[in-house]
Amino acid sequence: MATSEITVVCSVCGRLKTTHGWIKINYSPTEPCSHSYCPECFRRAMTEVMHWHPSQHRHNA
Ligand SMILES: [Zn+2]
Repeated sequence: MATSEITVVCSVCGRLKTTHGWIKINYSPTEPCSHSYCPECFRRAMTEVMHWHPSQHRHNA
C-alpha cells in the first residue's frame, strides 16, 4: 500500500510503530508524529475505561 509513512508513537509507553511491530527506542520526534496506542497500552486503556463508571466514581487514595 502506498500510504504516506507517518511516524506513529505510543503515547503511553513511547514505543515506535514499525513494520516489525512496536519497538521501544529512545526516540524524540522532531517532526509531527501521530500518537496512538500500542496493542498492550490499548488493552490496558480499554480495561481502565471498562472499570471506570461515571456514576460510581471513587478514588483509592
Ligand atoms: Zn504502549
